[in-house]
Amino acid sequence: GCGICPKRCPFGAITIINLPTNLESQITHRYAANSFKLHRLPMPRPGNVLGLVGTNGIGKSTALKILSGKLKPNLGRFDNPPDWEDVIKYFRGSELQNYFTKLLEDDLKAVVKPQYVDQIPRAVRTPDKSVKALIESRVSMNNLDEVLDTLELRHIYDRDVTHLSGGELQRFAIGTVCVQQADVYMFDEPSSYLDVKQRLSAGRMIRSLLRPDDYVIVVEHDLSVLDYLSDYVCVLYGQPAVYGVVTLPYSVREGINIFLDGHIPTENLRFREESLTFRIAEGTEDFVAEKSRAFRYPAMEKTLGNFKLSIEAGAFSDSEIIVMMGENGTGKTTFCRLLAGALKPDGTQKVPEMKISMKPQTITPKFEGTVRQLFFKKIKAAFLSPQFQTDVVKPLKLDDFIDQEVKNLSGGELQRVAIVLALGMPADIYLIDEPSAYLDSEQRIVASRVIKRFIMHAKKTAFIVEHDFIMATYLADRVIVFDGQPGINAHANKPESLLTGCNTFLKNLDVTFRRDPTNFRPRINKANSQLDQEQKLSGNYTARR
Ligand code: ADP
Ligand code: ADP
Ligand code: MG
Ligand code: MG
Repeated sequence: GCGICPKRCPFGAITIINLPTNLESQITHRYAANSFKLHRLPMPRPGNVLGLVGTNGIGKSTALKILSGKLKPNLGRFDNPPDWEDVIKYFRGSELQNYFTKLLEDDLKAVVKPQYVDQIPRAVRTPDKSVKALIESRVSMNNLDEVLDTLELRHIYDRDVTHLSGGELQRFAIGTVCVQQADVYMFDEPSSYLDVKQRLSAGRMIRSLLRPDDYVIVVEHDLSVLDYLSDYVCVLYGQPAVYGVVTLPYSVREGINIFLDGHIPTENLRFREESLTFRIAEGTEDFVAEKSRAFRYPAMEKTLGNFKLSIEAGAFSDSEIIVMMGENGTGKTTFCRLLAGALKPDGTQKVPEMKISMKPQTITPKFEGTVRQLFFKKIKAAFLSPQFQTDVVKPLKLDDFIDQEVKNLSGGELQRVAIVLALGMPADIYLIDEPSAYLDSEQRIVASRVIKRFIMHAKKTAFIVEHDFIMATYLADRVIVFDGQPGINAHANKPESLLTGCNTFLKNLDVTFRRDPTNFRPRINKANSQLDQEQKLSGNYTARR
């Protein structure tokens, strides 16, 4: 082994080792002949938040469409769909019978935060496209002030939705759902584009919707957010784009651990060969003497319009990953661009010239041709190297779409291409801006492992911006904490150990984390729980065990 993975190599194919035998009789929906089929359905419970976790293309959005009444399930009979009466008969004896009966009689109003918020501006047809007009036209509860404050919508309230950034659109979309009086609230991937603080506020806002008779359902790839939000969890497993199976509901801890472990004990079923764990290597303290660090950058300032960033001088060495933690708008991307030489600092300070390869935050595909052609053009040497194939290309599963046109790729496919392109360039320093965007929970773990292994093998340095806290702490050898006022006046601290850096970062957020004893993933403590209070008192915001 390479010494990173706890047991065998984690990059095994995702194979279903033993499937339940009665699946064929449990098809909830099939789009067409030989197309994706969904087996079973998640079971929402009133007064609880149900979390759904599973890879991309496994049927999560399909399940939401069915539970919101937008898609009538055909029970696999796509050529001769049953009527609602038959559907309800099919679910007889389960909680779903009651649920669908009410949905059909218009006794349940369902509202959905869609997965793709980028498509919202194009869908708006009203003459007044301001955030204010669109939200206020939906208000049917008296929580508007709370929604605007919690989701930080006030400063963009008069803006046109066509002018919003990804994170602003996401908060707007969540807000639009939260002001409505409904019986079923669904949020399809609410944390995309949000920073850690905004993810936690969105989580709090969503949980505040719970009333004894309400249903709340959330699809989420950031496992610490899913953990924080949900009362119980259904896992979806199977073969992406071919079929998906929904498990019974489990407690949050159990459900997420089942997903990570790839094994359902109650059904004696293994759906992934490898279990995924987050054990932090011992000795991640700041043990390297500052003097021995080969690279350094000076204290710098950078002014961009009304925004001012001050950076403490820092040093780093090879085989090291430095994760940048901070709210949106505190200058993480600006710092990357300064290091890369794409921006010049104010005054006369100079960043030493280093060979940099950068994965930008936003990926716009302009290349005419296939993924393979792109790799041959940009990173031929790496792409032809067996080591690079084994360490990077294979585990990211690029073979599935290597001969497709770059312009036709999905967000998650494009992200993986961009990661491979960045790592394939010869460089001293790799700057990787938000690698987890558009990736599902499993791809995030695989991508993090690929990056970590590559940096260690190649003896290079990486600076990574990452808002998924589990991924950030898994990747980081050290961290740079960005603080200050987003968009106005921010400060980048010097690189520090994972432990002290996380403590500073989490203290700013007023949140503590513990670790799950099974797979060591970080879990957010409930505010004011005994553990939360104890850890805050001892200044131990992120427990290592
Ligand atoms: P997830 O939300 O888990 O990523 P989806 O429920 O969106 O997955 O999709 C599951 C599978 O169903 C995918 O392979 C998708 O391409 C396919 N699919 C989704 N909608 C349709 C449709 N209207 N017709 C045919 N196939 C579809
Ligand atoms: P982060 O990556 O931490 O979210 P950025 O470095 O992208 O932050 O941006 C920091 C701040 O600088 C933001 O408020 C952004 O609007 C502002 N900014 C970035 N580029 C420019 C520019 N060219 N002109 C004016 N302001 C800018
Ligand atoms: Mg989806
Ligand atoms: Mg950024």
